Amino acid sequence: QQQKIYNFSAGPCILPQEVLKQAQDEMMNWHGSGVSVMEMSHRSKEFISIAEQAEKDFRELLNVPKNYQVFFFQGGASMQFSAIPYNILGDKTKVNYITTGSWSEQAQKEAKKLAQTVEAWQDHASKFTTVPNPETWNIDKECAYFHYCDNETIHGVEFNDFPFEKVEGMTLVSDMSSNIGTRPIDWEKYGVVYAGAQKNLGPAGVCIVVVREDLIGKQRPDTPILFDWKVFRDAPTKFHNTPACYPIYVTGLNLAHMKSQGLQHYQDLANKRASALYDYIDASEGYYTNPVEPKYRSRTNIPFRVKKDEKLETKFLAEAQKVGLIELKGHRSVGGCRASCYNAMPFEGVEALIEFMKKFREENP
Ligand code: PMP
Repeated sequence: QQQKIYNFSAGPCILPQEVLKQAQDEMMNWHGSGVSVMEMSHRSKEFISIAEQAEKDFRELLNVPKNYQVFFFQGGASMQFSAIPYNILGDKTKVNYITTGSWSEQAQKEAKKLAQTVEAWQDHASKFTTVPNPETWNIDKECAYFHYCDNETIHGVEFNDFPFEKVEGMTLVSDMSSNIGTRPIDWEKYGVVYAGAQKNLGPAGVCIVVVREDLIGKQRPDTPILFDWKVFRDAPTKFHNTPACYPIYVTGLNLAHMKSQGLQHYQDLANKRASALYDYIDASEGYYTNPVEPKYRSRTNIPFRVKKDEKLETKFLAEAQKVGLIELKGHRSVGGCRASCYNAMPFEGVEALIEFMKKFREENP
């Protein structure tokens, strides 16, 4: 029998075994159609029903109101870094961004190509280990929108109490790629929420973009057609061109699975996994360390160092891999280790990781 593997990859990531099994069972012949979803026309009634069901399950899981459009785009969350200013800058010239890690930094870099970016705060000193007091943010209400990243995948910084009152009246845009599906979203507060599927919702190839209806139609005249939300909204079945059919299908299978468990289940699980791991790290007397201010620690991406010793970390990663705990290497820009615990990570995976960390510490004092 093959060794049990727990995949802590930051994305593409672990998916539930049940979902993979269902995809396997339906691979050659989807629901008696005689063809694989990979072979279907994206205009066929079969594929349209798959995409519609995926959207329905996403809406139900996260309680998305009717006045928000849900899109399944290609190009990843990175494409939306560019598409967002093209679509909603309108007749404004400025946009407000807060940089709390690498992803919000990259988002802002793209926006700069089209607009003047007003930085709410930039954490050079803390190397992205906290979020500053919102009282000190530089908020410019003349800006077309305010953008933030709800969870920084590389630095492990998550907004656990976004100060909505500070940006009242502004269009709020949030990148939720690495924590979507781990708690409810208060939709009324947002204009745009986007998330690459390949962490919490499905395989790579789909970026889910949720846009409040009134924001669609303000795009610049030079908006590239594949960035243009209105073109997609107005296209039959909301696909202007050929979508990533198979990734949408697998995302749909996973969304149906998640819906059957309910959002509360995933929220409880995310909290339970993160508390167990941080508690162990904090109790390790400095052997393992996480640099993030506790209030802003990510529940899904947990970076840590092993005695702040690169050699020891290399050994840690190699030994972890041997016992089936894979993809624990930190992002190349920050080094160290990182345990990404997305929706499909069972609590047993974190228990196995903690057991391994204890043993490694004993053996390498
Ligand atoms: N935002 C966040 C928070 C991410 O974690 C990532 C990917 N790691 C991206 C954006 C970029 O996503 P993509 O690779 O889908 O373009």
